[in-house]
Amino acid sequence: MGINRSEAVVLRARKVRDTSKIVVFFTKRFGKVSAMAKGSLRPKSKFGSSLEILTHSLIIYYAKENRNVHTLSHSETLNPFSEVKADFAKLAYASTAIEILERFAPVEEPNEELFDHIVLTLREFDAAARDDLEVVLAAYLLRMLHLVGYGPSLSTCVRCGRKIDDGAASFGLLSGGVLCPACVGRDINAVELDADVLELMRSFEGKTMKQVRKKSAPAATSRGACDILTAFVRAVMGEGARVKSLDFLERMRDT
Ligand SMILES: [Zn+2]
Repeated sequence: MGINRSEAVVLRARKVRDTSKIVVFFTKRFGKVSAMAKGSLRPKSKFGSSLEILTHSLIIYYAKENRNVHTLSHSETLNPFSEVKADFAKLAYASTAIEILERFAPVEEPNEELFDHIVLTLREFDAAARDDLEVVLAAYLLRMLHLVGYGPSLSTCVRCGRKIDDGAASFGLLSGGVLCPACVGRDINAVELDADVLELMRSFEGKTMKQVRKKSAPAATSRGACDILTAFVRAVMGEGARVKSLDFLERMRDT
């Protein structure tokens, strides 16, 4: 048994018994961790609002060996991301980012870069105008995929390595990147990628999330990047996998 302390982002929570919940955190030092927060649903709980989904908190928990649910002893809010929680649209985008992270982050395996990436992304959702939410989500997804080992190839054909010059291309959802004309037939799940969408995704490289947000790409281009990356996320997750927040976001955008 050890006492672990880390910054964390709250990914998910479920009620157990009357007054407690099990909270799934993405922690900076220990990766994805589940912990029982006893009494957290009581009024005046010592945890306050630090266990709300999307909150950046500092937590201390007792880690029990060979157990997958540990015991939370302390949690305090570092950043509540109040603007995200108060705005319906921001919440829909940020929840999608969080739910996809929850699926891709391995259990109890640290990935500090990924942790910093989600915190910086939530900060940009918090500060973003509604028109910028799409580009923030697209840039978030692309970098997240790289950080968990699924980064799509955007400059060279993912099958044969031939350089893909500027212009429209095809994206192989099964192959995990752009395809040259000779290879496009070898992926039964290839979709068309507009030149400006490809260009936008390439432009994210080396930029901070703040620079991405301030870039202001045309709405249709940002949406195109989001659509291709969420289609790829679904392809990686496999058939039948559902991302509820993403389904919700897609319905919301189209109404
Ligand atoms: Zn090729």
